[in-house]
Amino acid sequence: MSDKIYVFDTTLRDGEQVPGCQLSTGEKVEIAKELELLGVDVIEAGFPISSPGDFQSVREISKAVSEPIICGLTRSVEKDIEVAADALKYAKRARIHTGIGSSDFHIKYKFNSTRDQIIERAIRATKFARNLIDDVEFYCEDAGRADIEFLARMVESVIAAGATVVNIPDTTGYCLPEDFGNKIAYLMNHVPNIDKAIISVHCHNDLGMATANTIAGIQNGARQVEVTMNGIGERAGNTSLEEIVMILKTHKQMGYHTDIDSKKIYLLSLLVSKMMRMPIQANKAIVGRNAFAHSSGIHQDGVLKNKDNYEIIAPEDVGVPNNSIILTARSGKAALNYHLKRLGYYVEKETLAEIYHKFLALADKNKDIKDEDLIKLMGGKIVDSHIEIVDVKVICGNSVEPSATVELLIQGEKIAATATGNGPINASLRAIDKIIKEKVSLDEFLVQAMSKGSSDTGKVHMRVDHKGFMYYGFGVDEDIVMASVKAYIAAINKMAFFKKAKKHHVRATATK
Ligand SMILES: [Zn+2]
Repeated sequence: MSDKIYVFDTTLRDGEQVPGCQLSTGEKVEIAKELELLGVDVIEAGFPISSPGDFQSVREISKAVSEPIICGLTRSVEKDIEVAADALKYAKRARIHTGIGSSDFHIKYKFNSTRDQIIERAIRATKFARNLIDDVEFYCEDAGRADIEFLARMVESVIAAGATVVNIPDTTGYCLPEDFGNKIAYLMNHVPNIDKAIISVHCHNDLGMATANTIAGIQNGARQVEVTMNGIGERAGNTSLEEIVMILKTHKQMGYHTDIDSKKIYLLSLLVSKMMRMPIQANKAIVGRNAFAHSSGIHQDGVLKNKDNYEIIAPEDVGVPNNSIILTARSGKAALNYHLKRLGYYVEKETLAEIYHKFLALADKNKDIKDEDLIKLMGGKIVDSHIEIVDVKVICGNSVEPSATVELLIQGEKIAATATGNGPINASLRAIDKIIKEKVSLDEFLVQAMSKGSSDTGKVHMRVDHKGFMYYGFGVDEDIVMASVKAYIAAINKMAFFKKAKKHHVRATATK
């Protein structure tokens, strides 16, 4: 029987702290529901005292999600803990995550305190939290740089005070894997009551070692890992969920497992990336665009014969659609045929040779060949329904009814419309509705200033509903009306893309 490793996801707390990545409550709830389906054990939903938005998010996630434990972050401050417990009121299973600095840097320069005083505060906070909620996790902030004997004392004290989980974070991403592993081993061997709590590890990626340090933590006794989707988080980010899950799955001989349904990783990774506007680097392990892409002819042929030749993880295992054989001028007939079949084109050997010639000529010109190119190559037509903004004019003020005239470019044709509304944004969106002649309803509208001050850039997140499907749009502009129009058009373009994709599908399968 392998040991279970508890997955504590902090995408919505540590991940969301990244500037520009802030999510609305609705978006957070949507991600939390997906995290539940993914099978995480704990969702850290926010830092309730930090803002009314965070409080609301923790509360709404507590209502919407029932399987995982919902966790709220606090400092070792009674007010924080009270507010967190209140935000967690509706959670089926709630946890308070409280803590304090444990390194001398933090003790001296952050708290202007002494080791003894810090231990006292830690005990008080833990006891206070335990009086409100049974499940209390304590973080020893900056444990990566803390004196190990003092750290052991702190861990022992908070367990004695009632902590059920103790988090040993490498807050600054400083540790080497071996040293971090040794730290965990030291605690396992020197803290007399360590068996009364689960040790958790929370690593940051400042030196690119978050995953390695987390694995070292597990190998030395940690049974909970604190991770984020795509490794997003402060500075260089947190340990990435997908990497830890797939390492434990690939190396079964290590004797650990998680309850994550790995097939759901890829779609959730895309969702988080899209909602947070954080693109995933192409060569990111597990979820990057190129993580399963084989582009050389020899590799492609080898993979098509037997995946194990070049793949240690099957793309399907993490939910990556199996179309990662990239077509370039170096691809062979096998790869071309594979993609044609995937698109629904079944061709005879001689025809394939003919198409292959055309394909090579095209691939010489274009660097890589996309589905659209293949469909054209097979005689299909692409309808480009991409919509562009040509012009937006608004009239507003305290003595006129707000109105807007919007001009759009759709399939080479300029179309304009004018509409009124209860404000310039509303009028602009109504004008767009008139042009596209589709019933689109705005579900969510979130405006944020990118930085402080009135002259700065605003960003707008939108969620629209069209025939029961949800689409997200995002826009940035110095003018908030323009940012809104951009976000709306971005969402509409996704709809148009979706329709286009469906058309392709029909056309491609028809030739079977
Ligand atoms: Zn962190």
